[in-house]
Amino acid sequence: MELSERISQVAPSATIAVTSKAKAMKADGIDVVSFGAGEPDFDTPEFIKDAAKAALDAGDTKYVPASAGKLKAAIAAKLLSENKLDVAPEQVLVTFGGKHALYDAFQCLINPGDKVLLPTPYWVSYVEQIKLAGGEPMFIPAGPENGFKITPDQVREYGQMARAIVINSPCNPTGVTYTPDELAAIAEAVLETDLIVLTDEIYEKLIYGDTEFVSFASLDPRLPERTLTFNGLAKTFSMTGWRLGWVAGPIEVIKAMATLMSHETTNPVSFAQAGALAAYTDPRAAGAVEAMRQEFEKRGEHMHQRLSAIDGVSCVKPTGAFYCFPDVSSHYGRTIGGIEVGGSLQFAEAGLDVANIAVVPGVAFGEDRCVRLSFATSMEQIDEGLDRLEAMLKS
Ligand code: PMP
Repeated sequence: MELSERISQVAPSATIAVTSKAKAMKADGIDVVSFGAGEPDFDTPEFIKDAAKAALDAGDTKYVPASAGKLKAAIAAKLLSENKLDVAPEQVLVTFGGKHALYDAFQCLINPGDKVLLPTPYWVSYVEQIKLAGGEPMFIPAGPENGFKITPDQVREYGQMARAIVINSPCNPTGVTYTPDELAAIAEAVLETDLIVLTDEIYEKLIYGDTEFVSFASLDPRLPERTLTFNGLAKTFSMTGWRLGWVAGPIEVIKAMATLMSHETTNPVSFAQAGALAAYTDPRAAGAVEAMRQEFEKRGEHMHQRLSAIDGVSCVKPTGAFYCFPDVSSHYGRTIGGIEVGGSLQFAEAGLDVANIAVVPGVAFGEDRCVRLSFATSMEQIDEGLDRLEAMLKS
């Protein structure tokens, strides 16, 4: 059957080849160390599960308004107290994960041919979501030599040509977080243009060392009218499978997104929203999040140290999220285990075949010099996997 032009232009994920091969190897009983995970390895905190179970038991099993009023109010309160953003509950929309919120935002804001700026490396789904909305991604290079950060001057230059910019700090795949001063300078440059800003703040709670998080829209009183702030429960509360995210922004955009959602998914799962309400209002939440953050911090520090000690590998230190994104390109041109390593795809293939470790090729994120390793896995697995990587690169 012939497929639509719309779906035919969407690239299948470049990560699929490696991850499906890793799965197949595991199924064959091969001990693969996986650094591929884009999700916390912890269980959802018990009090959040209890709240969802209680909602189920109380019969909260029907259609509900797209986002329950109480949850929107709790998110608005969180935005005011933690993010210095004053939004009405009506300016919040709860969605099926952050991914869904981003998808619907592009659908509601982008016209065919509109250009959307993506600091590169970027999280892979932005590209396909922009294309599915008829837009054109426009890449702003921010390689390892720039610490994976764009500059205000780049925003001024590229900003003349585009309708919107996506900012993702802390960043997937680089683990890099902009400082408040850097973000303020970018905000200043944005305000000299007509750019709309989509700021993806899903990793806001996973920051390390003396890193400070600041919400982009809070940096200037003129920003909220042109900024959409995306967030979700997946990473902060270890709730990836619950599929809960949200967006806050100008009321006319939120209303349009709610209209789209009413024809698309109606409402996020009713009893899952009860879990989200507990996550944002229960006093136990802060402790649970901090315990997970501290564990990620230790692992990230350790992984970064170990990667940096490997010959021919250099790694920008992650200040947030749970990824290291080392530059391994000095090994390109070698033949490892019979594989001619010409780029990140073959590097990942050699990792699987020779060392039985799964890493994600950087080309999937627009940076072929690097590979992504998630530290959302145990310290033992990190050491085991990096021992293997080190041995492979020495051989
Ligand atoms: N934004 C970024 C940068 C992400 O890494 C992810 C998850 N991989 C998401 C959004 C979407 O998360 P979810 O849909 O699970 O809320």
